[in-house]
Amino acid sequence: MDFVEQLKSSVDIVQVIQEYVRLRKAGANRYTGLCPFHNEKTPSFSVNTLHQRYKCFGCGAGGDILTFVMELERLSFYEALKLLAERNGIPMPKRSEYSDPETKLRAALYQMHELAEQAFRANLEGAVGAEARAYLERRGVGQATSAEFGLGYAERSGRGLVRLFEKHDFTGDQMEKSGLVLKRDDGSLYDRFRHRLMFPIQNESAKIIGFGGRALDPNEQAKYLNSPETEIYRKSYVLYNLHRAKHGIRQADRVVLVEGYMDVIGVYASGVHEVVASCGTALTSQQVQTMKRHSEKIVVNFDPDAAGANATERSVNMLLDEGMHVRILALDGGLDPDEYCKQRGAEAYAAKLASAKNYFYWLADRARGKFDMRTAEGRVAGFKFLLPAIQRLSDKLERLAVVNDVAGYLGVDAGPVLESFRKAAAERREKTVPHAVEAVRPVERILLNLLLVNADARTQLLPHLKNIPAVNQFTTRRIFEALFALDAAGNPVVFGNLDARLEENDRALLASAVLADETDGEVFSLEQGEACLRAIENTQRDSERAALKAQVRAAERDGNMAEALRLSAELSRIERS
Ligand SMILES: [Zn+2]
Repeated sequence: MDFVEQLKSSVDIVQVIQEYVRLRKAGANRYTGLCPFHNEKTPSFSVNTLHQRYKCFGCGAGGDILTFVMELERLSFYEALKLLAERNGIPMPKRSEYSDPETKLRAALYQMHELAEQAFRANLEGAVGAEARAYLERRGVGQATSAEFGLGYAERSGRGLVRLFEKHDFTGDQMEKSGLVLKRDDGSLYDRFRHRLMFPIQNESAKIIGFGGRALDPNEQAKYLNSPETEIYRKSYVLYNLHRAKHGIRQADRVVLVEGYMDVIGVYASGVHEVVASCGTALTSQQVQTMKRHSEKIVVNFDPDAAGANATERSVNMLLDEGMHVRILALDGGLDPDEYCKQRGAEAYAAKLASAKNYFYWLADRARGKFDMRTAEGRVAGFKFLLPAIQRLSDKLERLAVVNDVAGYLGVDAGPVLESFRKAAAERREKTVPHAVEAVRPVERILLNLLLVNADARTQLLPHLKNIPAVNQFTTRRIFEALFALDAAGNPVVFGNLDARLEENDRALLASAVLADETDGEVFSLEQGEACLRAIENTQRDSERAALKAQVRAAERDGNMAEALRLSAELSRIERS
């Protein structure tokens, strides 16, 4: 068996997808969940264990474990193969036929990041790391935590990584593309990170893809310096600590979003494991979608200063747009999350998280600070400031309740506002047109489901089916033709092979016949298949009979009695059989 087939048959699709999406069992062989490829509130994403396929009936995304990992992790085919093989302890064959130049470059970049992390860690433990160790001690980061997060130290010389990469025969071009090394005008190379405490940044599969570096020299201009965007580091997709936090997020059914590396580490070390940060960028919609795959509830806990409050305000709208349930935690005493955990203790922080208020109360308090609430104009201005965030609530009843609540809180009349809401809502009525897929008749559906999984059914039914002209009247006729061709060529008759032979429209038909909700992953029996075959044969006979009767009548009308007699004889022969 080909390695790809071997991998597909030994890895369960539900297990793979569940790493990224919360799935619910919805039938004998079917699971559903919210689609990770488009924004939705009710699940149209379906995983079929019988065929080992996934399909979204909202956006049309679909495929097998490899396409899923490729699309979600944005990997090449070879990388997805390698990732699944590694995760499941299946040795990869030593061939390079899958690797193209881009994949090779990315493999080199991953390797350089691993080497860099090891070097930084060794530095932190060694003599050069004394200053960095002292900093960690001051910040209350213990050795176990430091090791768990892979913290390290980039030395002052600016030659450490360059020398290391040269020793491992990486080219200057590869080094530059890693983002870890820079080139001077004279062509010489030097390390980007110098005299900094280093935080490795991992992707969702725990591979190191970049670094954040905190300056240890207080006179350094940039307190934090991050890796640039590279072939393996797409900032807008990455959340710091997600690979560690995702199981905690599922368990707690919430994400705690903080601002910086030290906050993540402090909060995580205090036992709140569902914590992540957007590293070095303002929160993006891709990051929010990534969180949402694991939980739709979030507590935003940014720094208490003005910059943190502004960032919170921006994030709220972004989070609401993606349909998240948002609460905001504003800590007292001017403490950031890390300081709070250290000074007030883990329990106090956990209690604060539990009592975090819904975002609109926080916004209302912001409005009170921004506008003069003693005047009517100020109150209305404050209310208007809140409206965009409230308008983003998709649930109508919740929206009305919030409007009334907040209006009461600020002392304004909600009436005119509600009227403007109605207008806005009417304007942005759902424009989405559902995919118009023709309905597939039960006989066709049952036969397709059966023929794709049951070898006996193929042996028994295919020879008959191929000879029934009525199959040409099927909505799914091209699917059956492709299936007959697969079988005739001696290729495995499985969903993926069949799907690959079809045009776009027929793919949608196949998916709706085999993977759709109403099919529910039902397993059909050979007997049911035989009944379908008989039903089709009957229809075939009926239509032949009707055609003959019409011909008899036509011959009689034309006075061609010999022909009429011949056709009648044939008709009674058919009726006897
Ligand atoms: Zn979708």
